[in-house]
Amino acid sequence: MKVICIGRNYAEHAKELNNPVPSAPVFFMKPDTAVLKDGADFYLPDFSNDVHHELEIVLKISKAGKHISEEFASNYFEEIGLGIDFTARDLQEICKSKGLPWEMAKAFDGSAPIGKFLPKKTWTDLNALHFHLTVNGETRQRGNTADLLFRFDQIIAYVSRFVTLKTGDLIYTGTPAGVGPVKIGDHLQGYLGDACLIEFSVK
Ligand code: ZN
Repeated sequence: MKVICIGRNYAEHAKELNNPVPSAPVFFMKPDTAVLKDGADFYLPDFSNDVHHELEIVLKISKAGKHISEEFASNYFEEIGLGIDFTARDLQEICKSKGLPWEMAKAFDGSAPIGKFLPKKTWTDLNALHFHLTVNGETRQRGNTADLLFRFDQIIAYVSRFVTLKTGDLIYTGTPAGVGPVKIGDHLQGYLGDACLIEFSVK
């Protein structure tokens, strides 16, 4: 399986990092070795001094497809969950300033914790999903899919023009504003609506 991540998909987040709001989705990938499951601890890597949390809604792809049209995109995922797109912001700034790819900052081992997934039919409107992240009980990030620059169906259509989607692939749909550093001892909890779907500690 692979992890596909959408960058700069909430205008307020693009702004907080001084990035332009994109006219087409920006995407990058993480390998399967990035995935952390079942509440496993996240170990801060030694190559960064500024690892940021990015809480994101994650789509789990339920059947293979390429060149999927927006109209049929919703047939390609049945479950939704939450994940953290951990980002070594210091390394990413170096990559960005040199015009280099971001993998070093984004694709490292353990950089993609995922939580529980629920059937998408749990919610009546996927374009009005509220989600938020707490660190040690304090709210750090709040988002609502109403503010997505590119909605789930548009993301699937766009990405599948370039990359075949396969069953089990995960799509991180972008982070809202409020990203910031984590430190050893932090406890992260992500909520979709009122449901806590992801919870783990930083070691
Ligand atoms: Zn992200």
